[in-house]
Amino acid sequence: MSYVLSCPNCGVREVTDFGFGGEVSARPKSRPTFRELNTYNYFRRNVAGVQREWWFHRSGCRAWFIAERNTLTNEVLFTARPEEVGEAGPGGRGQGGPDGRGEDGPDRPAAA
Ligand SMILES: [Zn+2]
Repeated sequence: MSYVLSCPNCGVREVTDFGFGGEVSARPKSRPTFRELNTYNYFRRNVAGVQREWWFHRSGCRAWFIAERNTLTNEVLFTARPEEVGEAGPGGRGQGGPDGRGEDGPDRPAAA
């Protein structure tokens, strides 16, 4: 099934332009137990309904962003840059996507 997503930078594009980064999940605290780390790495809620997800504009601006999508209908409720919805990304640096997962990984600017 094909549908469209609206990149916060580029506008509406076919979903094939994007890479899926998985559902947004809370990072464990700085020194997690093995159980917390295991849960974070391997368990997903896999919601049948509206869930918040990471997407990567692979064929466009190459930015990570957040979308809320109904997984039953593929209706996209909204898309936003991570900083607009309070998602800090890996390490709380405000850039990048879901912990470096995904085929392309986050594009971070080089340290100044
Ligand atoms: Zn884009």
